[in-house]
Amino acid sequence: MTAMSKKSRYPHIIDGDGAPDNELLRDLNKTPCPLCGSSVAALISETPYADIWSNLHAEWGVTISDSVKAAHTLAPVAEMRACSDCGLWYFSPAIPGSSQFYSEITSSCPHYYTDHKWEFDYVKGLLKDTHKVLDVACGKGAFLRLISGVVDVAVGIDTYPDAVLFGSEVGQAIYNRSVDEFAADHCDAFDVVTAFQVVEHLGAVMPFVAAAYRCVKPGGILVLSVPNRDRRKDLSFGSLDYPPHHLSRWREDQLGMVADQLDARIVSIAKEPLNKSQTIGALRTKELQHFLPVNFLGRAFIIKVVSRLALSFPLSLIWSKLRLAEHLGMYGMSMVATIQKPITVCQGLTSSSQFAVTQDNSCRQ
Ligand SMILES: [Zn+2]
Repeated sequence: MTAMSKKSRYPHIIDGDGAPDNELLRDLNKTPCPLCGSSVAALISETPYADIWSNLHAEWGVTISDSVKAAHTLAPVAEMRACSDCGLWYFSPAIPGSSQFYSEITSSCPHYYTDHKWEFDYVKGLLKDTHKVLDVACGKGAFLRLISGVVDVAVGIDTYPDAVLFGSEVGQAIYNRSVDEFAADHCDAFDVVTAFQVVEHLGAVMPFVAAAYRCVKPGGILVLSVPNRDRRKDLSFGSLDYPPHHLSRWREDQLGMVADQLDARIVSIAKEPLNKSQTIGALRTKELQHFLPVNFLGRAFIIKVVSRLALSFPLSLIWSKLRLAEHLGMYGMSMVATIQKPITVCQGLTSSSQFAVTQDNSCRQ
């Protein structure tokens, strides 16, 4: 599927920096921001739920049952709103996908649980053979398999009912538990806790993140990855970037806010780069279109040739030396926040999420 054909099905998407011009809205009946809880937001776009269901079928071959559609269609239209307090973009009204929704997605889309994400390799590079690692919402355990033998302990948890079965099939320790349940008896137990592309699915981010953070040892790290809202792999967004699959869209500012709420330190935010073919595609469909705004005979050919030459030797030397991809914001799908827990425990989050460590390594809320 081309970016153009996808874009044509989502004509409401606003390109660019996404600073909406509309008047701020205040409507307490709307879904609050999943990150900060504010209900003050600006409208960015509207998408009929009927379009989301039909596009899931068109893009992924997924047929969602009428009962699942009815349970997730809270209104005819899902609004995408920009939180005026934290900048998160989120959908309203929207609820997370039910287990039945995911069952229908995974039965029609066998590659839903991908075996590889860019951030898997990135995080693997941070690990030591002494590390104890917990992967929260580990799916079929692809990351656990990748780091098996690299670290001292690798454990996964997932609320997906077949998680334990997946684990036994691939020889990995996967438990069918929620992060809240697991954190209750694994406080400060892991050097590294990962949650890859989870928070964008949640209606309330911080309770989940706080529970995962409780499992991190003092001095250890919590690693969160999210789809980068400013990604350039594709200039549009697909049906899985809408509710009930994804409820929010993130930039690095919001990852920084998560760390602030944890009273923790952001060590780094890494953004997935575009590969060569993605870069050529992005140059052809955006940068060079802007550089040559006036249409003339041969323009399309020139854009095609220049987009290919830009990454070919010797121009590729200039490309990398001047870090043009970075300057042009040409990033791929994901970004990863590495958040370090202070050595001095136990830090509180808010008055409602204070916790303390007991001698048996469990946590008290
Ligand atoms: Zn917010």
